[in-house]
Amino acid sequence: MLTVIRAGRLIDGVANTPADDATVVVENGLIREVAVDGRGVALTGDADEVDASGYTLLPGLIDCHVHLVFSAAETALQDILGEDDQRLLVRAVHNAQIALRAGVTTVRDCGGRGAVTLALRDGIAAGIVPGPRILAAGPAITITGGHCYFLNGEADTAEDLRRMARGLAKQGVDFFKVMSTGGRMTPGTNVTAAQYSAEELGALTTEAGRLSRTVAAHGHGAAGIRNAVAARVTTVEHCTWVSEDDSGEVAYEPHVAAQMARQGTFFTPTLSTRAAVEMLPEDELTPSRKETRRMAPAVAEAHRAMLEAGVEPITGTDAGVANVPMDSIPVEIEALHRLGVEPIAALRAATQTAARACNRADEIGTIEPGKRADLLVLDGDPTRDLAAVRRVRWVFREGRLEVEDGRLARS
Ligand SMILES: [Zn+2]
Repeated sequence: MLTVIRAGRLIDGVANTPADDATVVVENGLIREVAVDGRGVALTGDADEVDASGYTLLPGLIDCHVHLVFSAAETALQDILGEDDQRLLVRAVHNAQIALRAGVTTVRDCGGRGAVTLALRDGIAAGIVPGPRILAAGPAITITGGHCYFLNGEADTAEDLRRMARGLAKQGVDFFKVMSTGGRMTPGTNVTAAQYSAEELGALTTEAGRLSRTVAAHGHGAAGIRNAVAARVTTVEHCTWVSEDDSGEVAYEPHVAAQMARQGTFFTPTLSTRAAVEMLPEDELTPSRKETRRMAPAVAEAHRAMLEAGVEPITGTDAGVANVPMDSIPVEIEALHRLGVEPIAALRAATQTAARACNRADEIGTIEPGKRADLLVLDGDPTRDLAAVRRVRWVFREGRLEVEDGRLARS
């Protein structure tokens, strides 16, 4: 089964500039051949033709931080506390399809409850329902009563962390998510203090290495970020650098960022969550959101410093938490650009870099022969006008048309 896509412009996730007049040949879900500048292709025969000559073709986007079981409503916390797993699964199907319609062909789910996200991952992979490829952590690992304890991934000691990692791997999770500090979503947790020591996190990363899995660490407080980086986690989420003392200030640590750049630790700034708080009217802000808004300029400054230090950013929206819908990937890409990242580099953070951070660079993230044909066709050139990321014409998953003009192509 051959499909030939002709595109006016190609952003392949590798080159620093778009190419013109591209032809991409897809066979059995894989990219077989790529030609640019109007050159012909060798593979021909009985093929479906897709005329995208007025459009831009790029790799399907990767959202490295979502929670498919969360409702994205103001009541996100109450919703998950009150809903059983069957209800969460229905919600997750709906959420996954919203992401797909926004051009997201892979999501890294950073915390679901029980095996809900694993069941959805497998159902989508089996073709039962359309959706993005899901890389699932299962429940996020946290201390007893710690951030997102309600996902049922509590582990306190190094030994607990090892046992938890082994159990989750046995269940079939794709990576591990660990809460290195408290979080604002979970009342009673401490955002500033570390939940685990560097040694405890080291027990997890060592076990993850043995099990060939990556580790994503949630980190608000500077102490938790420092411990996670010392333990050589793969990605640090949020990176808000909240000071260890109770001052509520941002305490950015350049030597930790330098270490991240040196050892190749990625960061997921989850800018969509702060963009969502910016949109809320002042009189509707909870004390915790007021705090988020007050700190936003200093956090942005820290993120700019991390970029300057050479830490590689990846896109992760934290979609599912309050006021962050599943189609927030354009918000994340635009916010990355506002931090000073060139449009093509911001798109790379959502494709090639994200794929490397997920340890899936051999499969996804670029348009090159041998990669899976996860493809996005946009109306407009996002390197000139990033808003084009919002104008989704077609989405292909492994060569199959899944979305047309923002709607699911099959039901
Ligand atoms: Zn999250």
